[in-house]
Amino acid sequence: MVLTEIPQIKKLKPNRFALLIGSILPDVIDKPFVLLGIGTGRYFSHNLLFVLVSFIVIFLSTKRNLRVSLPFLCGLTTHLLLDIPYVPFFYPFISYEWVVIDDVILFWFDALFTNPFVIITEIAGVVSLVFILIKNKLYHRKEIMDYLKGEGLSIQHE
Ligand SMILES: [Zn+2]
Repeated sequence: MVLTEIPQIKKLKPNRFALLIGSILPDVIDKPFVLLGIGTGRYFSHNLLFVLVSFIVIFLSTKRNLRVSLPFLCGLTTHLLLDIPYVPFFYPFISYEWVVIDDVILFWFDALFTNPFVIITEIAGVVSLVFILIKNKLYHRKEIMDYLKGEGLSIQHE
């Protein structure tokens, strides 16, 4: 999301909403499965096949609108890259056998407070969110929505 603040990218008016959806989609799909005892939290939607298929679906369903489908693709790819090393990129073509965690929620909370990498990325996330809100003066719902859609006031000074 921070990268969309780079003027050259900002000019293209990327649909940040699609970026956001892409970047959370793998976890939205996979995490509930873990709670049901299926997979490891990085499974059905944490692989290249899913990336390819969902990109094509978005690309075609938006009438080949790259302003929407490319940010979506970027969000999705970034998510998987940040999940390395535990990403089953070639699922389902290669079978992956990873440690099954008994109490997932406890594990996530534990990581949130004890894993330095997780803590740093979470803090970086919050800081960049605040940076984006202040820089673009996004203090109201409508402004935020316009910003996400890649429209609105935020491009007026260019
Ligand atoms: Zn993930």
